[in-house]
Amino acid sequence: MKLIIASNRLPVYAVKEGDSLIFKQSPGGLVQGLSASIGTILEITESKDYFWIGWPGETIEEVNQERVYEYLLKTLNAIPVFLSKEEMEKFYLGFCNSTLWPIFHSFPSFAKFKRDEFERYIEVNKKFAETALKILDDDDLLWIHDYHLMLLPSFIKKEKPNVLVGFFLHIPFPPYEIFKLMPKNMRETILEGVLNADLIGFHTYQYQQNFIKTVRSIFSIEHDIKNIYIDGRRIRTDVFPISIDFDKYNKAEELPEIKKRVAELKNLSHNSKVVLSIDRLDYSKGIVNRLFAVERFLEKYPEFHKNVLFIVVVVPSRIGVEKYNETKEYIDSLIGKINGRFSTIDWSPIQYLFKNLPFEELVPLYILGDALLVTSLADGMNLVSKEYIAANPKGALILSELTGAAEDLRRAFIINPNDIEGIADTLKEALSLSKDELFERNKIMVEYLKKNDIKKWTTSFLEELSQCTPTKKPIY
Ligand code: UDP
Repeated sequence: MKLIIASNRLPVYAVKEGDSLIFKQSPGGLVQGLSASIGTILEITESKDYFWIGWPGETIEEVNQERVYEYLLKTLNAIPVFLSKEEMEKFYLGFCNSTLWPIFHSFPSFAKFKRDEFERYIEVNKKFAETALKILDDDDLLWIHDYHLMLLPSFIKKEKPNVLVGFFLHIPFPPYEIFKLMPKNMRETILEGVLNADLIGFHTYQYQQNFIKTVRSIFSIEHDIKNIYIDGRRIRTDVFPISIDFDKYNKAEELPEIKKRVAELKNLSHNSKVVLSIDRLDYSKGIVNRLFAVERFLEKYPEFHKNVLFIVVVVPSRIGVEKYNETKEYIDSLIGKINGRFSTIDWSPIQYLFKNLPFEELVPLYILGDALLVTSLADGMNLVSKEYIAANPKGALILSELTGAAEDLRRAFIINPNDIEGIADTLKEALSLSKDELFERNKIMVEYLKKNDIKKWTTSFLEELSQCTPTKKPIY
């Protein structure tokens, strides 16, 4: 038996440097977490081997494809699915990130519904299926990740109904009333695709129930609280909140290079209170709401002038999608406005970084930050909040109730991202607590994260998948 993982991205991505291609580790919790747990995964699934199928992060010219294929297979057990520029535009920037992403995050007015992009989505899913089918045997286990590959379960089951197929959705599943806004052929094909999996996982109970209610409303089928029954098949659904490599973040403070960096940063921040915010550029992260709250905080509590520093890290993402470009411009202009309004010759309230920070830069910020402010309007999980508490158990976590993480981190300062006044007041309250008080308050969350780390997430999903019986009769 083999385990095959399929996700849009591989654990590494290619970057062109002059005439050569180099491979870097892909950012993000999923890839890092799964890579770290491969040993445990193989053990619990009793798999002899594993392969990872995904896009290598660049358009690779045909002449180089064979070389890249062999290199990735040999060094990482990774099998690349090569996509052209046009496919990436219509599949990735188009249907994935201009249709599914806004619909699933309940931003329907941002969604485009283009038939040619949907067709490309189908074709790219087929391409992934062709690659997987080349190596899949009947007794293998296939774990498919996320909204990019929702049709993959059907294409696999059509050819190999005995393969056990698990699907995990890393973003929210929206309420039926929002999902229904997608044209009929799109919404039905998407649901049929994913319903061909044997186990479907979500981060929260609410996303799982939205899914079951949507399936019931669209297909009028039988179900109970966890299972869906179609044509004599049972499709299991369950909740598996993703987490982090707890020890890696919790023990980072002991590393000499991290210690050194924290000390340097403390000097630079002149012992001001530091409030962090760290997200990918995305309208769903509520960065604009956060900046309104920062402005209100500075207006309402002038005693913090010169005593607080907001470090706003925005990681470039999906450049080329119109809504992302607009969001970036809005953020830039608001930060300029706030700094212009409140700065003095020797102090500016906001330090703004538009870049992706490596672990060695990110973790010192977590440790330095007296507070982390998360104001997402919709967020499947939000790993940054979990990493922050693990790295800095004496920090104040101010967390939007609209994140999946708010279900797990219940002792955070929970806010609503539309309540600007409320965020400003909560920030004041959080900053007035001592480190000892925060440490006491956070204890229960630290314990929770220690027990429920990324290994627990991977193993619970795969254990449940191993117990399923593969459905022999696919739905088309
Ligand atoms: N991250 C990073 N560098 C940065 C900012 C974030 O490596 O400058 C990582 C962070 O450690 C986390 C991930 O990116 O693991 C973001 O995950 P999250 O669930 O918070 O948000 P997503 O981007 O997946 O929506």
